[in-house]
Amino acid sequence: MAGGPRGGVDGNRDSARIIVLGGGISGLLAAWHLRQRGCPVEVWEASDAPGGWAQTLPWPGPAGEGGYLERGPQGLLVNRDSAVDRLLRDLALDLRPPQPKGPRWLGRAGRRGPSPATLSGLLRTPGLGLAGKLRLLAEPFIPKGTTPDETLQTFFARRLGAGFARELLPAMVAGVLAAPPECLGLEALPRLQRLEARGGLLLGSLRAGPARTRLPVGGTGALARALAERLGCVITRRPVRTLERRPEGGWRVHGEGPVREAAAVVLALPAQVAAELLRPLAPEASRILGAIPRLDLRVWHSRHAMVPGWERGIGLLLHPPEGHGLLGAVSFAADDPRGVPGLLQLRAYVGGAYPVAPALEAWPGLFRELRRWLPELGEAVQVREEACPGAFPLLEPGHGARVARLEADLPPGLHWLGAARFGPGIPDLAEGIAAWAESASGLLVAGRHL
Ligand SMILES: Cc1cc2nc3c(=O)[nH]c(=O)nc-3n(C[C@H](O)[C@H](O)[C@H](O)COP(=O)(O)OP(=O)(O)OC[C@H]3O[C@@H](n4cnc5c(N)ncnc54)[C@H](O)[C@@H]3O)c2cc1C
Repeated sequence: MAGGPRGGVDGNRDSARIIVLGGGISGLLAAWHLRQRGCPVEVWEASDAPGGWAQTLPWPGPAGEGGYLERGPQGLLVNRDSAVDRLLRDLALDLRPPQPKGPRWLGRAGRRGPSPATLSGLLRTPGLGLAGKLRLLAEPFIPKGTTPDETLQTFFARRLGAGFARELLPAMVAGVLAAPPECLGLEALPRLQRLEARGGLLLGSLRAGPARTRLPVGGTGALARALAERLGCVITRRPVRTLERRPEGGWRVHGEGPVREAAAVVLALPAQVAAELLRPLAPEASRILGAIPRLDLRVWHSRHAMVPGWERGIGLLLHPPEGHGLLGAVSFAADDPRGVPGLLQLRAYVGGAYPVAPALEAWPGLFRELRRWLPELGEAVQVREEACPGAFPLLEPGHGARVARLEADLPPGLHWLGAARFGPGIPDLAEGIAAWAESASGLLVAGRHL
């Protein structure tokens, strides 16, 4: 990564500079769009590598073989011509061709049934009676919602029926957002609003084209690495400490190393870090940001002997609270270059907004719970736990209004982006940050910014 100037105050050599704080996917995307618009930009990242949660970390196999784990996403769900699709094309990243998928299940009422994530799975899934399945067919005829601050629960009940919202939705939402659908606003999955605007879940999806899981060769972390390399201005081990407003306009950024001056600053930091920085500058914005609940998730990675039939990977979602805090598990395909040949690499999600049974705090208890749903699974040959504190923001109903109030309190030249604003999905972050850059670009006038 690029090294910044060392020692002293840097002065105002480049008054047009924009400093992006945080080198996770949000910060890298913000810098990417600013750079595309000709802005001199620099990214400060506190840790020694860019990517934030989106990193592919080495995890050698039992005999020291090369192997990896994903800190965050295992793949990127990409719609044709979406912001993330355009990004992958612009970066010319090598992508693995789409692979056929192994079995996908939903665990409910002590049994595992087909996952309702596909149409055929939805029609075969137990837990939804004939009336519930017939109700699904009415979805294209349901008009667009008019209630402000709808929850995910009421949205799905309206579009797909109360049976779907009660029996299937909690597991699907827990598996993606680690929280109950009645606590989340539609802003947590902005894609739903876009689909509804295009005719509903079915017609909107048909119009948007199929969504495919795309996987950069080298894992999802390859996206962050490619962005950082192409930008060439990501300074690692450079945590920001405070921001100072210059009387003549613009900002002074204090952190490790020299003080830097900037025309504008973009906060792409974890919400609590951004809230702390904003406290003396924008107390109301800081208060709103600090009040967005953050969910702690724990992820257990494990390697097991391959189970015949699971070579293409598996997916399991559990209906809360039946998993006692275990939300689901997912595995790589056997030929995935991130895995260790011959072994099944699993990861299990625990916690989020759900209480965790004490037995699930350690691997043996978690393994027993996993075996309840996946009896084929043999003992683990390797286990590793990764904590994800605060990784998932809980975007409650009314989030849009909160964001508007927060934005209104920000001083000129200060911007705030990230998962707590756009939702944790990387495709949603990509969409939100592309739209932010588009709207901000009118203000990026020859060195006098934002
Ligand atoms: C286990 C897990 C599974 C996930 N699965 C999926 C999935 O399947 N699909 C999907 O789309 N998304 C998924 N996500 C969510 C997605 O990975 C995140 O929402 C996204 O990566 C957040 O990016 P960000 O840049 O906004 O935040 P972060 O990744 O948190 O980046 C913030 C950056 O700021 C840096 N920073 C902190 N303090 C300072 C400071 N003082 N100065 C400078 N820098 C600082 C941090 O080091 C970090 O690099 C998952 C996340 C997790 C944890």
